[in-house]
Amino acid sequence: NILKPEAAIDEQEQQEEGIRPHRFADYIGQKDLKDVLDIAIKAAKSRGEVLDHLLLYGPPGLGKTTMAMILASEMGVNYKITSAPALERPRDIVGLLVNMKPGDILFVDEIHRLSRMTEEILYPAMEDYRLDITIGKGSSARIRSLPLSKFTLVGATTRVGALTSPLRDRFGLIQKLRFYEVDELTKIVLRTAQLLKTPVTEDGATEIARRSRGTPRIANRLLKRVRDYAEVKISGEINESIASEALQLFQVDPCGLDWTDRQMLSVIIEQFNGGPVGLETMAAATGEDTQTIEEVYEPYLMQIGYLTRTHRGRMATKAAYKHLGFTPPNEQLS
Ligand code: ATP
Repeated sequence: NILKPEAAIDEQEQQEEGIRPHRFADYIGQKDLKDVLDIAIKAAKSRGEVLDHLLLYGPPGLGKTTMAMILASEMGVNYKITSAPALERPRDIVGLLVNMKPGDILFVDEIHRLSRMTEEILYPAMEDYRLDITIGKGSSARIRSLPLSKFTLVGATTRVGALTSPLRDRFGLIQKLRFYEVDELTKIVLRTAQLLKTPVTEDGATEIARRSRGTPRIANRLLKRVRDYAEVKISGEINESIASEALQLFQVDPCGLDWTDRQMLSVIIEQFNGGPVGLETMAAATGEDTQTIEEVYEPYLMQIGYLTRTHRGRMATKAAYKHLGFTPPNEQLS
């Protein structure tokens, strides 16, 4: 039933799952991360132990969930995926922990948002594979300990600095995910196009890659938009000019910036003479919340050198002025 929104979501999710890599070999880029994990996997396997707890951090859509699933398949274990907001009550995390089989992977997204009680349950669980439960109240309260299977916690966060240090210290491996290079994203687009049976030239894939903000999830999303455009307009393969025409229509510029990015930069330049501008002002100017601006928009603008963050606020760089067609003021931000 195409009128049912759930059906549409299911279909979208199924398609997402269909293009998600399942083996190390298909996980493109992130060489440093893969090298570290490859060793960790081999060492754990040769000792017959479980994998150390792993914390993955970096902007959304770079492949944290995908990596957790790949780890499970490489280790030959099962995984469960959850996120901190779904673990509000202690019994939510307890339910998951007691059902873990030896070696299983528990993936917790947005781990910086765990409630204090849930976090405290996790400390002995991570350290000694032990569940401490308080029975009774007040002076008659007692703690009972239950053994848990040895499991691996994979935590993911966009804000590693927001984790409490007792939690952060319990991860044996802490790894950052980087934005992807254009050639890596080109490979991802070509791979996804093949899975979607969409003909695309190498140039066409590169054009999509260039506009994907260093992010595989965006690359896959843009490919689907360009595929729609190509099917309707030319019913042929996606080449460079079709990709660029389509993405222009969807207001994704040659650097991958969208309306919100450009609005943020032009507010700084036009209304504040290049900055510094506070986060709240940026939020008001774009209608986005401050968290989205900090975690989704700013990391990429800083990565490509269009924005700098100082303790007094955000500033637009010379490159940002030029990109938006403004003349940079001489003495500023040389
Ligand atoms: P979030 O934290 O926002 O959930 P994430 O970092 O967990 O994001 P994923 O869901 O793992 O991101 O990845 C998004 C999509 O990008 C996946 O569906 C997958 O198809 C694709 N992808 C991610 N990383 C890679 C990669 N290294 N190679 C190929 N495809 C990738």
